[in-house]
Amino acid sequence: MIRAAALALLLALAPASIHAQGVRAQGAAAPAAAWAALPGPLAGPPRIVGHTGLGCIAGAVSLPADGPGWQAVRLSRNRTWGHPALVAALRDLAALARAQGLPTLWIGDLGQPRGGPMPYGHASHQAGLDADIWLDLSPKPALSPAAREAIEVPSLVLPDESGVDPARWTPRHGALIRIAAELPEVDRIFVNHAIKRELCRTEAGAAWLHRVRPWRGHDSHMHVRLRCPPGQAECKDQAPVPPGDGCDASLDWWLSAEARHPPPRPPGPPPRLPAACQAILEAR
Ligand SMILES: [Zn+2]
Repeated sequence: MIRAAALALLLALAPASIHAQGVRAQGAAAPAAAWAALPGPLAGPPRIVGHTGLGCIAGAVSLPADGPGWQAVRLSRNRTWGHPALVAALRDLAALARAQGLPTLWIGDLGQPRGGPMPYGHASHQAGLDADIWLDLSPKPALSPAAREAIEVPSLVLPDESGVDPARWTPRHGALIRIAAELPEVDRIFVNHAIKRELCRTEAGAAWLHRVRPWRGHDSHMHVRLRCPPGQAECKDQAPVPPGDGCDASLDWWLSAEARHPPPRPPGPPPRLPAACQAILEAR
């Protein structure tokens, strides 16, 4: 029993190449490590299969490491990939932020070269439609790739999550979230529920608040998610955001014990990716 557990642990820690050899045998249940080991995208027109929580993408493009108003960070992860519409939206976000006098943005993970599940860090980001933007508005020098691996952004939220930290939160953070929420391609933005609560306090009734959704974590970054771009017949959108600005009693749930200590995921095999993702994974 102990030996079996030790073997399982060894396999879990094994380099991605070991997992990759087992890809074909495991069909569409190929482990996340096989997706993470792919060095580059599958060339061709963009094609999203599935959804952001269980999907993949062909024809992904990479956000350049540097551009007007942004620096991509943690480049060693090779998670700068997404649908061209995502990269275009991030370019727009950085340009609009710059035009409002906001500093260079640090852009974190988009997705893997062909999307798919990740061995660590995110449950979504699988279909080339998600990106994390750090909520850091300090002026930024041009950092070397090595320095970008170790960036630290403090939380904007109080430890008990009852509100934003008044020593750190500023209306400019809200302005950045608003720019992202008003991008026409955006489906929703995830921020910590305390940030949503603060925006409700200061911006109640604003139409863009509709797209700003409360979640756990996300206290030092926001998560930007696009709708399926036009022409992506195999791409599945999430259920629409409920109508209204979301500034209601539903926000209080996030302070409950149930919300703060969610039960672990039920046991069982991970959900299977759409079958078409297997060909995208294996194509050379
Ligand atoms: Zn994210």
